Amino acid sequence: MINAIDTHFHLDLYPRPADLLADIENNRIYAIAVTNTPSVYHFTQKICENKKYVRPALGLHPELAEERYRELGQFEDLLKTTRYIGEIGLDLINRCPDSSKTAQTKVFQKIIDLCATEGNKVLTVHSRGSESEVIERIGKNYPGKVILHWYSGSLKNMELALSYGFYFSVNSSMCRSKNGRKIIQSIPDSRLLTESDGPFITNKSMVNSPLNIDHTIAHISEIVKKPSQEVSKSIYENFKAVLESKNLR
Ligand SMILES: [Zn+2]
Repeated sequence: MINAIDTHFHLDLYPRPADLLADIENNRIYAIAVTNTPSVYHFTQKICENKKYVRPALGLHPELAEERYRELGQFEDLLKTTRYIGEIGLDLINRCPDSSKTAQTKVFQKIIDLCATEGNKVLTVHSRGSESEVIERIGKNYPGKVILHWYSGSLKNMELALSYGFYFSVNSSMCRSKNGRKIIQSIPDSRLLTESDGPFITNKSMVNSPLNIDHTIAHISEIVKKPSQEVSKSIYENFKAVLESKNLR
């Protein structure tokens, strides 16, 4: 059996994180537990201690950047405690006030710079309404691994991200949307990853989690017209490649 992979879910936002964590570990699902601010990271870091499959990620969500700007110092202090960084990025969807845009940009740029200096981080990045800006701010030859989470931009920007070596994590919502399916068909096998983005996504009234990533695999295999075993294997190999990479500057 090939291990399932979930590179973006919010463990701390489920009603019973410890129980879910135990289930994920028992099912041997490799997962990156993203967090939305440095002040809540401690909880996820603590419960993931000594766990084999779930890794805690330090983040500062773009939609909280303005309100939690002051936590950047904490972010910096905690940077050495994990190799995984997320949720970070930009969200410049319509009617985003200028003050939010300014804060988001400052926070994101600072995080990118800190992670580049440290080197070898794995970033899971939000880019809604800001794809080209996110891709360009990270840039090519970034000394780490970049996973664009729930990418919803143009194929042109996607090509650019691919040329920079970025990966794409696909979730069940993308499988259900027309644009999402188009994106999934264009992701090369060697850059495909899966995510649940649970508990934010529900699927037929079931809350997404790493435990039901197999549904997403089945859906992707229909979309790309390849056997699900083959799809799972590529995703597993890609995750391994991300973890094994050592591009320290
Ligand atoms: Zn998320």
